[in-house]
Amino acid sequence: MRYVSTRGQAPVRDFSGVLLAGLAEDGGLYMPATWPTFSAADWRSLRGLPYAELAARVMQPFIGDAIPFATLQGLCRDAYASFGHPAVVPLVQLDSRLWAQELFHGPTLAFKDMAMQLLGRLFDHVLTQRDERVTIVGATSGDTGSAAIEACAGRARVDIVILHPHGRTSEVQRRQMTTVLAPNVGNIAVDGTFDDCQDLVKAMFADTAFRGEMHLSAVNSINWARIAAQIPYYVASALALGAPEREVAFSVPSGNFGNVLAAWAARRMGLPVVRLVVASNRNDILARFLAANDMSVRGVEPSLSPSMDIQVSSNFERLLFELMDRDAAATVAAMTAFRATGRMPVPQQAWQRARAVFHGFHLDDAGTVTEIRRLHAASGYLADPHTAIGIAAARALACPHGVPTIAMATAHPAKFPDAMEQATGLRPPLPARLADLYERPERFTRAPNDLGAIEAQVRATVLRNAA
Ligand SMILES: *Cc1c(COP(=O)(O)O)cnc(C)c1O
Repeated sequence: MRYVSTRGQAPVRDFSGVLLAGLAEDGGLYMPATWPTFSAADWRSLRGLPYAELAARVMQPFIGDAIPFATLQGLCRDAYASFGHPAVVPLVQLDSRLWAQELFHGPTLAFKDMAMQLLGRLFDHVLTQRDERVTIVGATSGDTGSAAIEACAGRARVDIVILHPHGRTSEVQRRQMTTVLAPNVGNIAVDGTFDDCQDLVKAMFADTAFRGEMHLSAVNSINWARIAAQIPYYVASALALGAPEREVAFSVPSGNFGNVLAAWAARRMGLPVVRLVVASNRNDILARFLAANDMSVRGVEPSLSPSMDIQVSSNFERLLFELMDRDAAATVAAMTAFRATGRMPVPQQAWQRARAVFHGFHLDDAGTVTEIRRLHAASGYLADPHTAIGIAAARALACPHGVPTIAMATAHPAKFPDAMEQATGLRPPLPARLADLYERPERFTRAPNDLGAIEAQVRATVLRNAA
């Protein structure tokens, strides 16, 4: 499979190439040059497979010759073996036509693990083939850092150093990062804000000598491999509820648009998906776009669902490219205008095409708490704030004619004990495998908001691991 950039000016690459490159050189995002499609018989042949096997078969066309199928099967088995549920992505029925698909049984209890656990192993495999190493650096305000650390811990070809703002993450979030003691993992608590951490990461990438010396890399949400690894669970739940003979709808709590884009990709591959509900909190840029073609940036407002506190959804560019018939010049023009004015001019026809499939929905914090309480009272189900928004959206925008809707459950409720207690009076316990998180030893270093100091600590982590 070959990959092209949404902006049309970057080299064409294979799967391994886009995995290591992340962002394309022209600032665009990589997309498969053609979409693989599965026939009804192909879908049926996947029914009932263990999740890891299904994932390997769904991803195989995107990987092509880059990785042998038997190797991919092994990587998928390994990636999902540590999940805390034998079904990996279990479905829970909430009412006669509504299901939740739980994507939070991985090591950090959020859906990022679905892609990251596989990505760490894919990196290791491709780097071993090429006899290369990388140092992954990143900044986190909480969740993405821990998923990346869990994915890279103990990998042979990768070192990872994550910056977090000292004293500004929750204790669960910090401990999920700092209690990973593998020698290839470094945590730096920076005396500064999350924005300072992000600026330091950008400055490291801009320091060409340091970037070359350390072979810097990133695993951010625009990496195509993350999207590819998120397609299989949509296939699994659709098959379980009767596809390809029966249509389904999905409701997805959205921030960077990566998760719902994977659902769209499954539809593009031929899965009978009639509706995609994009669920947002008070940061409702996607809902405003879908309602009124108003893609305009406002300030980011903090909410009870912090992983959706986003104004610019990086993966939206991939959908835009498709809506405009893969016209790279038109994509560049829209993205340039968006950056310059804060408002994206989406042609009317492209917007109409989006509305034929996507429906927007948004809910503020008070509505989120009410939904968590209502759902718990009605069915006993405890949904975290992100998941609760997706479930509220599914109820508000249910399909007619008995089409089942599957709401993506993106985080374990124990990650948000305060919101859960406010809504239900209960503090959900951490799963048994994480129950001793508060007793585990931590390791991190502290550093001033200073590029030289940070680079010295990144280098020290890499040297310590090499020794
Ligand atoms: C990252 C995240 C989201 C948003 O997913 P996108 O792919 O960025 O749209 C939703 N819920 C949780 C819990 C997350 O961690």
